[in-house]
Amino acid sequence: MCKKSMEEKPIPHNRPTLGVEEEKAAVHVLKSGWVAQGEEVRQFEDEFCDFLGLPRGAAVAVSSGTAALYLALLALDSKGKQVAFPAYSCSALRNATALVGGIPSLVDSRTDSPNMDIGSLDTTIDVAIIPHMYGLPQSISKGKMKCHVIEDCAQSLGAFVDGVPVGLQGDIGVYSFYATKLMTAGGQGGMIVSTDTALITELKDYRLFDRRNDTKIRFNFQMTDLQAAIGRAQLRKFPEFLKRRAEIYHQYKLANLPLLDTVQEIQPVRFRAILQTAKQNEIIAALKKNHITSVIPLQEWELLGGKERFVNAFNWTQSTISLPIYPSLSDEEVKRIIHVVTDHL
Ligand SMILES: *Cc1c(COP(=O)(O)O)cnc(C)c1O
Repeated sequence: MCKKSMEEKPIPHNRPTLGVEEEKAAVHVLKSGWVAQGEEVRQFEDEFCDFLGLPRGAAVAVSSGTAALYLALLALDSKGKQVAFPAYSCSALRNATALVGGIPSLVDSRTDSPNMDIGSLDTTIDVAIIPHMYGLPQSISKGKMKCHVIEDCAQSLGAFVDGVPVGLQGDIGVYSFYATKLMTAGGQGGMIVSTDTALITELKDYRLFDRRNDTKIRFNFQMTDLQAAIGRAQLRKFPEFLKRRAEIYHQYKLANLPLLDTVQEIQPVRFRAILQTAKQNEIIAALKKNHITSVIPLQEWELLGGKERFVNAFNWTQSTISLPIYPSLSDEEVKRIIHVVTDHL
């Protein structure tokens, strides 16, 4: 009886790892009487810089990854400009581009990775948003790029390319702390980094929207101290998170699951365990029968452009499944997942 109920305990696709540290941090803010953007946000920005090896002052905390993308585009004067981003990515890229008044220019995926094929970028492009999908970043030689580069690191915080942390290869790096990302700031949040101090000053000016003695348009994209305190607690645990994710990925690999991996000399983070298979529906159904949730990480209807034009992107929607991988997933749960998948490969 006991064994049966253990076996049937549902395994969600995702679960944030929140514990007593986050609880204490949140309570501390609640009791302080100051919950809006303040000292916690400032310290979160400083510690985020420390984490990336940036001088303090190079990060701006905002309300979401989408807000970070919008602000990055705004800071690069993207209105009326050609903004390139992949068809295979989060709708946040399209939305941020539309909101800033940029002209979208969609790009296909690579054949060896769902990442954007930056080699096929048009020379007329002014700004490229390059997301590093699934914790598997790609190398961007900025010297060769003719346009401004925004690295979208929502799925790859902590990864390195050629010894450089992701987010520092281009002009601006953006990150997301949404609940399902590598770490969360209480459900939502974002960060922007740049070594261009003029750019950072402009972003901070934009965020400080209230009681300004001029008519310049600004907007409220602030993070709260409550969010930042939780974000700080998560950042302290972040190396442990990555270690546990790598362990789980390793267990999947040991079981010979055909997982998507890096195609370049990079140090990935295990944000997603992407199974490469043509039997998507069969495996998802088999897992579901065993109370395990897996998903197609990006479906055909989610593509930002037509499948006829973006053939590689389309192919990735037809050949991938995302398996659970998060710090609180137990070895027992990993074994259950491996068992079902192996039976249906
Ligand atoms: C999640 C995500 C975003 C958006 O971040 P939010 O914090 O949810 O607004 C943008 N780009 C990519 C690649 C993402 O995965």
